[in-house]
Amino acid sequence: MKKLFLTLAVAFIAITAGAKAPKYVFYFIGDGMGTNEVAAAQMYLADIEGEIGYKPLVFAQFPYTGLAFSYAANTFITDSAAAGTALASGKKTNSNMLGMLPDRESAAESIAEMAKKAGKRVAIGSTVCINHATPGSFYAHQVTRNNYHAISTQLAESGFDFFGGGHFSSAHDRRFDDGGSYKVAEDHGYTIARGYDEYKANAATSEKMILFPQQEGMESLKFLIDREEGDLTLAQLTEAAIDFLMKEPKKGFFMMMEGGKIDHSGHGNDAATTIQEVIDFDNAIQVAVDFYKKYPKETLIVVTADHETGGMSMGSQGQYRMNMQALQYQNMSEDAFSTHLSEVARQVGDVPTWEEVEAELKEHFGFWDKNRLSRTQEDRLRTAYVETFGMGQSEKKVEEYYRVDKLSDVAVQIMSEIALVGWSSGAHTAAYVPVFAIGAGAENFTGQMNNTDIPMKIKEIAKY
Ligand SMILES: [Zn+2]
Repeated sequence: MKKLFLTLAVAFIAITAGAKAPKYVFYFIGDGMGTNEVAAAQMYLADIEGEIGYKPLVFAQFPYTGLAFSYAANTFITDSAAAGTALASGKKTNSNMLGMLPDRESAAESIAEMAKKAGKRVAIGSTVCINHATPGSFYAHQVTRNNYHAISTQLAESGFDFFGGGHFSSAHDRRFDDGGSYKVAEDHGYTIARGYDEYKANAATSEKMILFPQQEGMESLKFLIDREEGDLTLAQLTEAAIDFLMKEPKKGFFMMMEGGKIDHSGHGNDAATTIQEVIDFDNAIQVAVDFYKKYPKETLIVVTADHETGGMSMGSQGQYRMNMQALQYQNMSEDAFSTHLSEVARQVGDVPTWEEVEAELKEHFGFWDKNRLSRTQEDRLRTAYVETFGMGQSEKKVEEYYRVDKLSDVAVQIMSEIALVGWSSGAHTAAYVPVFAIGAGAENFTGQMNNTDIPMKIKEIAKY
């Protein structure tokens, strides 16, 4: 056994020593994106075209693939802080800890910090708030991920060239009198752009940049399923980051982009929204692939996930078939539908009638029309309607991300039943996460690995 390990180690070094270090490194992290989320999205795309099979996503076609474990130092089921720290620094830590080792004193240096030291330009982006666990793992060192104010201060102090994502969480924490996270960032030389157009107008004259959604205080980009014309996207963040980092192409760059909300709809067991988020993540990776095509010998793209969320599975209720195409008739996330229902209630000034709610369910989930309901399913919706509008206190809390009323919750449960998608949890799981790689050094990302191996491989290959 020992000999085998030695042989593998030698082989690994031999590969990296012979190859030229990639100048441009992309690291994409799908929060909550287990192997089944990736497979489900591809099967869904085939099913809506009436085919049994899969329609490949861009990143799923990368030539090198592997599997990684996601466990934390203190538990098999990690949170995003410990998993982010592992993917950023190559060090396992305890859940809730961000860029710190379990001793609570030593900082775990991230690959982004190493890249910066090596003279590279650096960008960090996410669809969730920019001081959230996964992006924070790349620039912050805190004993708890909940120190949002301290994390945004460390963002400002990082000196990284570009940040993009949802607005700061706890931007105006009253316990601190430093003027808030935006001011601290500006004091450190960051230009703050709200929306893609503002980015474009200011990019040339800015030394360092933070790109937020145009909507003030919006702490995450909208789910793809809820998106409207003009809303900021992860693909745009990736485009902006490339554009900004390539102001000095000779330096090379490291960028981490997170599809952060695959996790949110996973917690909510909202299958249609989760699948759309994986597709949205793929759209951002397409931008990196277009860049790779221009510089194939100098670019490395690695795609992975921090953990799986929800225990999503294809197949349920003892059946030997899937009906994923049913999910195409859902056109709002459960989060947005819940908000929409309260607006409907406000408009009618009181409690909407069952007929009014029925019309909403028909329009946004295709119930009765496209997606036929069993007697029991219809009864459950009617009961949930009474609980939501008659009692008004039966909401489900999806972590700290959003709250939904009972009716929206039951509607997405029924969608999963119709599609025959199963869920084992409303939390994270310890399921394998996938690793996909293309470009210079990509051949090192195969086989079974630990999540901590991934940044260490990048460090070695890119010679940080
Ligand atoms: Zn989560």
